[in-house]
Amino acid sequence: MTRARFSKSFTQQPPIPEEGIEAAVAVMRSGRLHRYNRAPGEASEVMKLEREYAQWQGTRYCLAVASGGQAMQIALRAAGVKPGDRVLTNAFTLAPVPGAIAAVGGEPVLVEITEDLVLDLEALAANVAQSGARYLLLSHMRGHLCDMDRLMEIAIAHGVTVIEDCAHTMGARWNGRLSGSFGLAGCFSTQTYKHMNSGEGGLLTSDNAEFMARATILSGSYMLYESHGAGPAPETYDAIRLETPNMSARMDNLRAAILRPQLRQLEQGIAAWNARYDLVAERLARSPAIRLPHRPPAEFHVGSSIQFRVPGIALAEAQALIARLAEAGVEVKWFGADKPKGFTSDHRSWHYIAAQDLPQTDAVLADLFDMRLPLTFSLEDCALLADHILDAVESIRIRVGA
Ligand SMILES: *Cc1c(COP(=O)(O)O)cnc(C)c1O
Repeated sequence: MTRARFSKSFTQQPPIPEEGIEAAVAVMRSGRLHRYNRAPGEASEVMKLEREYAQWQGTRYCLAVASGGQAMQIALRAAGVKPGDRVLTNAFTLAPVPGAIAAVGGEPVLVEITEDLVLDLEALAANVAQSGARYLLLSHMRGHLCDMDRLMEIAIAHGVTVIEDCAHTMGARWNGRLSGSFGLAGCFSTQTYKHMNSGEGGLLTSDNAEFMARATILSGSYMLYESHGAGPAPETYDAIRLETPNMSARMDNLRAAILRPQLRQLEQGIAAWNARYDLVAERLARSPAIRLPHRPPAEFHVGSSIQFRVPGIALAEAQALIARLAEAGVEVKWFGADKPKGFTSDHRSWHYIAAQDLPQTDAVLADLFDMRLPLTFSLEDCALLADHILDAVESIRIRVGA
C-alpha cells in the first residue's frame, strides 16, 4: 500500500494571535519599545508579562530576558558560579545548555541519562561525590522529567544548587508541581520552536529575592529595577547594585506584547499538543520493534515532540530509516548520527568542553529518534506520520529482541 506523502513543514508554528498582533502594533505606534521607556505611571508590556508569568508559574519573581540561553547564563552567574567551578548537567541536552555553563567560565560535568531520557539519579549521586560540583543545571530535555522528589533529596543532601532548564517543559508538572519551581530558578525560552513564540526571548523565575535582584542587574537593568513587574523589593538591591555587572540581555515591549495573549492560550496549546502526542504514541506502541520512553504517572508532560527508540538498530539501518522517512516527507531526527545535523544534542560534538566517557548515554542515543509535533499538524496528520514511521520500521525488518 502506498501512503500519501506528508507535505507539511515540521518547523511551521501557528500565527501569532490577532490580539498579540494588535498589541505589537500599538507598541510600535507608541514608539516606546524599550522596556524602561514608559509614559508616567504606565506599566510596560514587559512588566505586565513578568507579572502574569510569575502568577501562572506560581513563583514570587519573574524576569523577562532576551533568550532561554541568557536566562540560564544569568541564573548560573546569579547563583554564584565562578570561573573554574564545575557544573553538572545532562549528557543529553541541547547545545545552549553546556554553552551557558561555558559562557560563565564553568566546567560542565556531564551526567549519564537513563533509557527513559532523564538524568540517571544514581549517576548523579556518584558524580556529585566525585566531582565536588555544587551546581546542577538540570535540563528537562525533550520534555522528560526525572523523579524530581528524589532529585531534590540528593541535591539538598549534598548542598547542590539546582537550576532548571525548562525550555521543553513550560507547563509540565511532577506530582502536580510545575517544572521550574523545584530548584532555585526556572529558565524558559520563548524562541520560535518552544511553547510560546516571540522569535527570541526567555523568562527566569525564582522565589529567592537576592538571587533575583542579582539576575535583574545582570540582565541589564541599569538602576531601573523598580520598573519590573515581578521583582524583589527595592531595598534588596542595596547590597547588590554596585557589585553586579550589567550584561544587557533584556526583553523589549514588542516581544512581551505578542507573548501575553499566548500565555492566556497556553493551557489550550498544551492540551492540543498532548492529544497529538498521545495519538502518535498509541500508534507507535503497536510495533514490537519500537520502544517509547516510560512516562511515570507522577509526570504531566507537554507533548510538543515525541521520542522513540528502535533497540538493536544498526547504523546502516538507522540511516535507511531516516532516508525512507525523508522521502515520505517525514522529518525524523536520529541522535546516533556521527555528525551534528541542524542542531547538536550530542556531547561528542561539544569540543570546547573536556571529553567525557558516557557509554550509557551513547548507547541510548545510538537508537534514539525524535519528531516535532507543531500545532499546525492536525490529528489526521499525526496518524499519517505515525503510520509512515510504522511502515519504515517494518521495511527495514528490525530483528526484534534478537
Ligand atoms: C531551546 C533550548 C534552550 C535555549 O533556548 P534559546 O532561547 O534558544 O536560547 C535551552 N535548553 C534546551 C533544551 C533548548 O531546547
